[in-house]
Amino acid sequence: MSKFFSKKYAKLTPYVPGEQPKDIQYIKLNTNESPFPLPKEVIESARAEAEKCQLYSDPTCTELIKKASEVYKVKPSQILPTNGSDEILNFAFMAFCDKDTPAVFADITYGFYSVFAELNGVPYKTIALKEDFSIDYKEYLGVNATVFIANPNAPTGLALSKAEIEEIVKSNPDNVVVIDEAYVDFGGESVVSLIDKYENLLVTHTFSKSRSMAGARLGLGFACEKLIADLNTVKYSTNPYNVNRMTMEMGRTALCRQDYFDEKCKEICAVREFVATRLRALGFSVLPSKTNFLFITSPAISGEKLYKKLKARGILVRHFEKERIRNYNRVTIGTREQMQTFLETVQAILEEEK
Ligand SMILES: *Cc1c(COP(=O)(O)O)cnc(C)c1O
Repeated sequence: MSKFFSKKYAKLTPYVPGEQPKDIQYIKLNTNESPFPLPKEVIESARAEAEKCQLYSDPTCTELIKKASEVYKVKPSQILPTNGSDEILNFAFMAFCDKDTPAVFADITYGFYSVFAELNGVPYKTIALKEDFSIDYKEYLGVNATVFIANPNAPTGLALSKAEIEEIVKSNPDNVVVIDEAYVDFGGESVVSLIDKYENLLVTHTFSKSRSMAGARLGLGFACEKLIADLNTVKYSTNPYNVNRMTMEMGRTALCRQDYFDEKCKEICAVREFVATRLRALGFSVLPSKTNFLFITSPAISGEKLYKKLKARGILVRHFEKERIRNYNRVTIGTREQMQTFLETVQAILEEEK
């Protein structure tokens, strides 16, 4: 740390992204990316926009918002596109949390929530997941804090129902409730349709997981007009051109190809169930997932050892050092072929352990 670094950041521990090693060609099952390429027209749209890059991107994101409003059946004024959904989560911490409005989220959830809280000097408390790693929605009723819930949750893959989320939103009328639906397209129940009913609900989506655009960085926030206006105040005070030309047009054309992504999500879900069944037959405990990953543990091998042995054989999964989940690994669902290789490799590793 240099002597110039602001004191307010001295204790900040940054988020650690999943590794992206370059030494060999790994089967990457560690960052929940899509294994499928984008449709041709989406890539072409980025090329065409690259030709116009001497001009700034549209700060109002008008065409993208127009298309998103058709697809999601909400008003254009209820949408805010951002540079990945991480950006809108950070905007939410900036806009809706304070010294006297702390944040609250689960003890085991998306690692960025605590980082954004610390970055913004926001006090926060965590609520422990139940023994089975599910969220008890009752613990979030009337909490007097800005609520952040990943639904489905990561890295567990478990989801709350729309009715349970609605109870949480209803019981916290004086606080914003942020529902991070990064994985909702793989089997969760979205609450976007509730934004007209509740002035305190913000729902965030990403194009990184179900829409094959992790590297392009695009997120969408959905909320009532007033919350979106607040978030826009933050956006225009940090980076008015937060979504670049290529990404903006890719997002719009991707939304025109919902048929393609729906089919890919179905495929991921089918492969997920196949892999879960096979892993259970190998003695693993596998949480019932509503996402594009599985959270798994085996009594026959420690979480860390399995992670290391898979890596040595060219397969990357995500292992977290956190106490409660140290014996688990989070495995992204890849193509059927990749998962076949994964299963064969796991089986071989278990044989060695005998
Ligand atoms: C991946 C992920 C995000 C962030 O997605 P980006 O749009 O790539 O920034 C947000 N929340 C959760 C729970 C995620 O897993």
